[in-house]
Amino acid sequence: MIEKRLTKEIAEQFLKDEDSMDLREFAVIDDDAAESLSRHEGEELALDGLTTFSDAAAEALGMHTGVDLSLNGLTSLSDKAAESLGMHEGERLSLDGLTSLSDVAFESLSKCEGSLSLNGLVLQIVRSVLDEPIVEQDDEGWGLRLFAGDPEEVIVTITAGAVEVAIFDLRWDGPHTPVVHPKLLGVLYWGHFSPSQFEEMLTALVQTACQFRQAEFTKCRYCDRVLGPEHMHGDVCHGCAERHEGVVH
Ligand SMILES: [Zn+2]
Repeated sequence: MIEKRLTKEIAEQFLKDEDSMDLREFAVIDDDAAESLSRHEGEELALDGLTTFSDAAAEALGMHTGVDLSLNGLTSLSDKAAESLGMHEGERLSLDGLTSLSDVAFESLSKCEGSLSLNGLVLQIVRSVLDEPIVEQDDEGWGLRLFAGDPEEVIVTITAGAVEVAIFDLRWDGPHTPVVHPKLLGVLYWGHFSPSQFEEMLTALVQTACQFRQAEFTKCRYCDRVLGPEHMHGDVCHGCAERHEGVVH
């Protein structure tokens, strides 16, 4: 497949009539096209199709004067490009596709005037800190929730700007209606810390949550399964209590 190239000609056409095209379809941008687009003053400059760009293009886009600059297709960013994008004065800079970022690059980006969105990077760090198995649940009310461990030990919820770490807990709203009740342990506002600091603090919180939860686990006297207190009657699991002791739930 030939990658679509955003040329200066196309950029100038876009500046004349924003509705005439969708810039997200372009995977590559010419430096002089980026320079033209830096003069864009509209609501949103969405260049999410770009998977890579030169430091010169980054320098031009850092001068962008519009409201939102969205570059969610980039998976990595050089320190030099980060320095340029950190000059962005709009309300929002989105780089949700990044999966790694040096502390130096983060420091530069965090100088941008508006809000900085790095959802991909945050998710990547959260995943790397948690132990398998991990179950991910996209919940509109909370954000993205990750349950880790079997039995579940910790719940990490990613919301806009923050990451919440909770100890897994479950209560019964009826004999067959389990309801998850996360016991909140801590909230990290990741934007205040470099990626490595964030990872370090998140690791400490997650380990604390896991230790707390593991201390509650009991082994069933009949089937040897290790379960949380929500599935046990003393040292007998609910299933075995029904099978061997005639308990009805
Ligand atoms: Zn059992």
